[in-house]
Parts: sequence; C-alpha cells; structure tokens
Amino acid sequence: MTYRGRFAPSPTGQLHFGSLVAAVGSWLRARHAAGQWLVRMEDIDPPREVAGSAASILAALPAFGLVADAPTLFQSQRIAAYEAAFTQLQVTDQLFPCWCSRSDMAANGDMHRDGRCVAAKASDRPPAWRLRVPDIEVTFDDVLQGPQRQNLRESAGDFVIRRVEGFYSYQLACVVDDAFQGITEVVRGNDLIDSTARQIWLQRCLGLPTPRYLHLPLALDAHGVKLSKSGQAHPVDSADPLSALRRALAFLQLPLPASATDVHDLLAQALAGFEPAFLPHCSGYSAA
Ligand code: GLU
Repeated sequence: MTYRGRFAPSPTGQLHFGSLVAAVGSWLRARHAAGQWLVRMEDIDPPREVAGSAASILAALPAFGLVADAPTLFQSQRIAAYEAAFTQLQVTDQLFPCWCSRSDMAANGDMHRDGRCVAAKASDRPPAWRLRVPDIEVTFDDVLQGPQRQNLRESAGDFVIRRVEGFYSYQLACVVDDAFQGITEVVRGNDLIDSTARQIWLQRCLGLPTPRYLHLPLALDAHGVKLSKSGQAHPVDSADPLSALRRALAFLQLPLPASATDVHDLLAQALAGFEPAFLPHCSGYSAA
C-alpha cells in the first residue's frame, strides 16, 4: 500500500515553530517512504479560528519547500461526511444526548461515564452528543514513542462527538478524514498522543481502518510549556525560511548539511540522510 501522510493544522494562528516541526516531520516520513504528503485544514471550530490564519499557514508551507501532492482538504467543506458518520453512530445506538453543564461535569471528575447524563433533559437548549465508551483497553504501537495502552473509560469517558453549538468534534472529523484521505501513517505532535486511543476506538465504531501513528516530541519553551500554548511568541518567518527550517531539522536531531542554497536544497539533503531512527524518542524538550 502506498504511504500517505498528512499535516493537519488548525487555523488558530500563524504557522509557529511547533507546527513547522510537525509539518517537516510528516513531510520527511512521506518522502522517505516514496509516498504522498497531504495537507488538511482543520477549520471546523469557528470560535477558535483566527481570521486569515488558514491562508497564512497555506502560504507559508511552500515557502518552506513543503508542497502537498493534492489540493488542501478543508474540513469546513466536509460537514456532510461528519453528519453521515454521526448518523451511523446514532442509528447503531452508540450516542446519547447530554445536557450536563461544566459544574455537573466538574462534580464527576470532568468526565462522563457509563452513558449516563446526570443533568435533567432541557427542552429549551440542544444537547451535546457523546459516544458511549465501554470499559476497554486500547493499545497501539507508536512508531517513535513505543507501545501505548489506555483504558478509555478511565481516561476519556464518554467523549463528545457533536458539541452543544452543533459543531462536530475534532475526534470525529479527524477519524472520518484520515480514512477519506487514505492516510496510512499519522505523524503529529505528542500533545495528541492522548487522543489516539479515542480515535482508534471511533475507527472501530465506524468500521474504518486504523493507520500507524508516530508522535513527534513537542517543542517546549524554557518553562516546559508547549510553544503554541505559550502565546504568539514563536511564529516562524516565512520571509527567512532557511533559518527556521534549519532549526526545525535540528530540533528533530537530523544531520544538518553545512551549507544549502535554498529550502529545496536543504530538504533534499536532509532527506538523503534521513533515518527514522534519528528521531528522538521522548515526549518533548526545549526548542531553545
Ligand atoms: N489540527 C490539530 C492541531 O493543529 C492536529 C490534528 C492532527 O494532526 O491530528 O493541533
């Protein structure tokens, strides 16, 4: 089967160093496997969206030499597919409506379990819809982080598939689109390793294939906080792409060529020396 990887940014700000690392890491894996590299814009959370950031991220990628093999898939154009998956889960009785407030949830450890909503049904407002999650252990072998195991009931509980506002959740959209795009390996930051068991479970509920997973170490600031979460401090300058690309490759601990004329030359040299074994097996470290 042809390797297919993807980079799936959310338009919540400009491309920053952490997302450049995920983009470069996923691109290198795909090119090393002589496969395809796709870009998916995860623009299904309007309240979190920053105007203009989808266009700015998509303009920055080619400046770093990262050119996708197919047109960008925009999740905002895929609502009908999420609706169909939602209906499939609903008709097979895998979903239940939930009217719980934040304080109801807080009283239950911020989690829902056993398919029970503790709040009273409210006829004046719509519910969130949650997946009934059984007491099950999901395991997978992360290419970089090794064997993983998560008890879904304990660690995630009955998680949200459609939010109160009617937006489909990241977990649902991601799983539907990884299958739609024929992704064979998901390469992304280690902050999402916790979502992987939920995604594997959803794939099983929907009868979709499970890709391989590789979670890259997270780029942290000097205080150990994920870069994107620590403010807008680290956007990468696509007007000076060579230096940011060098830093991203160095962060991934790839051997750096002494000189490179442009980003394409730098990426070609990085690819020529690329061995997945170079990638650091840890959850995250400082990008400084
Ligand atoms: N859109 C997510 C983010 O920007 C990444 C999703 C994924 O790679 O699965 O954090």
